[in-house]
Amino acid sequence: MSSRRGQLVIVSGPTASGKSSLWRRLVSHPQVRFSVSATTRAPRKNEVDGRDYHFVDDARFDEMIAQGELLEWAEVHGCRYGTPREPVVKAIDAGFDVVLEIDVQGAISLRESGLPTISIFVAPPSREELEQRLRARGTETEEQMARRLTIVDQEMAAAHEYDHVVVNDDLNRMIDEVETLLNLQPHEG
Ligand code: 5GP
Repeated sequence: MSSRRGQLVIVSGPTASGKSSLWRRLVSHPQVRFSVSATTRAPRKNEVDGRDYHFVDDARFDEMIAQGELLEWAEVHGCRYGTPREPVVKAIDAGFDVVLEIDVQGAISLRESGLPTISIFVAPPSREELEQRLRARGTETEEQMARRLTIVDQEMAAAHEYDHVVVNDDLNRMIDEVETLLNLQPHEG
């Protein structure tokens, strides 16, 4: 491993913005790791404990806060989410970049943590396009769509808190832009 210290790479963005595709591609680089958050939310179908999240109950989450085990934590849509400190600090000390897919409250706390961070907000090209993408999925009722779009508007209002806003007009182009920002070699295949 090089003597270079890694950095925290914070990725946020509204639903269907392409942020998951982005972080999946970033963690396929050998020098990049993903931080698995702890959450009090119940697992969704297909989610695996320890891979997608560490699923914990309220008592355990309280203990993690009290013991200083979390680098940051926030309440999002009624559940608590937090970044475990030890694996992240060990990885950046070993020279890895660590990707955190967290919300704006987490992005702001980490900016103030003293750790090296770079924060990236993934924006859809336009609200109309996002609405079309959500509609194309066809998984939501009109009422659910309206609720999601209100949340998107709130999330978009936080974009100015980030170091970089990247517009997902084309997924591969947007990923290349972020790889350049992070000084990562372009991914093969
Ligand atoms: P979901 O429940 O859909 O997986 O995530 C809901 C929200 O929680 C997303 O905006 C996600 O970015 C955020 N989130 C996930 N893990 C963390 C975390 O460790 N800290 C913070 N602050 N937000 C998180």
